[in-house]
Amino acid sequence: MAENELFVRFWGVRGSHPVPGKSTLRYGGNTSCVEVRVKNHIIILDAGTGIVNLGHQLLKELQNSTDTLNLTILFSHTHFDHLQGIPFFLPAYQPRCTLNFYGPKVFSQSLEEILAQSMEPQYSPIELNELKAKMNFHNLHENNALVFKENSDKPTLVWQNELNDSTDAVVKIMRSYAHPKIGVFIFRVEVNGKSVVYATDTEGYVGNDTRLIEFAKNTELLIHDAQYDPEEYLDKNFSKQGFGHSTYAMAANVAEEAGAKRLALFHHAPSHGDEKLAEMEAKAKELFPNTMIGTEGVEFRF
Ligand SMILES: [Zn+2]
Ligand SMILES: [Zn+2]
Repeated sequence: MAENELFVRFWGVRGSHPVPGKSTLRYGGNTSCVEVRVKNHIIILDAGTGIVNLGHQLLKELQNSTDTLNLTILFSHTHFDHLQGIPFFLPAYQPRCTLNFYGPKVFSQSLEEILAQSMEPQYSPIELNELKAKMNFHNLHENNALVFKENSDKPTLVWQNELNDSTDAVVKIMRSYAHPKIGVFIFRVEVNGKSVVYATDTEGYVGNDTRLIEFAKNTELLIHDAQYDPEEYLDKNFSKQGFGHSTYAMAANVAEEAGAKRLALFHHAPSHGDEKLAEMEAKAKELFPNTMIGTEGVEFRF
């Protein structure tokens, strides 16, 4: 990879639960997982079922090398659809692999406790402490940032006001309160003035989410929740207001006002098959022309 290149690949784009089958062949049925590579670092945004296939890919890379594999895994939040892939992520079983986890402390539970709980024997055949990879857990605060230095295996956790204008890659964090009960982290991965913004599981506001617009300013790629179309969102019999998800129109408005170069609609409703998503893409393009449906397997290089 070139020195200041930002590589992004979608491994899971679906919201709520996986949707296998014919209706999702084109865009994909796995839940949230995005891989970002910058300098010599591999950053994984969320560990929905998409991380399982990413694990197969990484395992091949590990087997073809004598190096250790150091992965940074960031959780936007700890709802099932964002962590359910962990027990099936094969690098987690490799002693040559180090997993550096970053995510929220929720109520009184640390990220480590939450992950351990999700793999207790009532729920999982494998417990967290049976995984063979080296694991480090870090509770993230919304005022934190991660700095990825050139020759370091893992990022440094700093406060955002400690960031300086170095050439290191950074992950900036914004907390959205527009997701039920626990909120959600939004991430901006940045290197050399180029960036990708990951804003899943967040709901728009009347007049748009101005904090997010500021946070996503001039990004190369805005990945934004677009679970609903506006009619579903406003459905009088089953309103989706307050569910913590956006419409494609809300996503397009944020992209437009932020001056994003490109928008990927993300966290697709399980009920939306390929046809419906293609329709939503066409409508979203009328609002923000450079829009695409987030699609499993699609790669970007900036
Ligand atoms: Zn979700
Ligand atoms: Zn959620």
